Amino acid sequence: AEKLLEVRNLTTGFLTDKGLVKATDRISLNIEKGKTLCLVGESGSGKSVTSLSIMRLIDYANGMILEGSINFKGEDLAAKKQEELKDIRGNKISMIFQDPMSALNPVFTVGDQIAESLSLHQNKNKKEAWDEAVELLRMVGIPSPEIRAKQYPNQLSGGMCQRVVIAIALAAKPELLIADEPTTALDVTVQAQILELLQDLKEKLGTSILLITHDMGVAAEMADHIAVMYAGAIVEQGTVEEIFTNPSHPYTTGLLQSIPGIEGDRGGELYTIKGTIPALGNLPKGCRFNPRCPHAMDKCRQVEPGDLQIGSEHFTKCWLYEDQAKAAAHGKGENT
Ligand code: SF4
Ligand code: MG
Repeated sequence: AEKLLEVRNLTTGFLTDKGLVKATDRISLNIEKGKTLCLVGESGSGKSVTSLSIMRLIDYANGMILEGSINFKGEDLAAKKQEELKDIRGNKISMIFQDPMSALNPVFTVGDQIAESLSLHQNKNKKEAWDEAVELLRMVGIPSPEIRAKQYPNQLSGGMCQRVVIAIALAAKPELLIADEPTTALDVTVQAQILELLQDLKEKLGTSILLITHDMGVAAEMADHIAVMYAGAIVEQGTVEEIFTNPSHPYTTGLLQSIPGIEGDRGGELYTIKGTIPALGNLPKGCRFNPRCPHAMDKCRQVEPGDLQIGSEHFTKCWLYEDQAKAAAHGKGENT
């Protein structure tokens, strides 16, 4: 499959009063054309920092990219100057966030806000932009779009506002849509509708999606590929099938056991992973998950595991899979 985005060893640091803290540590991931990558993990694991780093929006917040490359269609975004990124940001790559209200301007009608995005990116006159704004509202599933276009954000429900935000993002015809917990602020039935909308748009428009979520259930429904993040690192990644049918990392299996309906028989009680994410400035020695891991061995407390390949697209950072990875590498060697 054709790669749209290829991130290699991306390390983002923040200057704090305790010195330089790495919020992401050598992140590598790929997003293919027309596919969805879900970045999953608990809050504080570095998911949002990863997406902001890809957009190079971290530079404003005391943060900096310390290492790595962000290859988007053959160009390294990590090496570009801020003014060179204008053409990419909001145009080839659009972003939507958790809270739709904060993304909308309360003093303009939603139609005007979409039309403005259209005239910004596509050089349309006022009438054309307005008509297309109405069409976009229709496309994102807003009923009576001609009427709704003339309304202000506070006249629309939260779910409708998120649809408007998605319409604004789509006005630029982006090749990559980054959605950071886009449904977390919405109630459950609306969440499902927004996810369905994103899925539809991906299929219709061929847009690639980087979807950030703490919810493995959402990832199961939406993802083609999954990357599991823990304490600033991607600890496991693979296709959705590999992660759900053959999960390897003890952190991933812990996340899977906390989805309602999976591993049933718990009398309605959800499994939760014991302990908390370590402070990023104070990671344990060895595997960063070792203080919480039920399988930790001596080696885990001494040496950090690298990416071990255990399937065609399946990687894990866990010493339990050392032999399996060696066997897989050996098997590959014999075939070539
Ligand atoms: Fe657990 Fe060790 Fe694997 Fe880390 S490397 S997840 S501590 S078994
Ligand atoms: Mg976040």
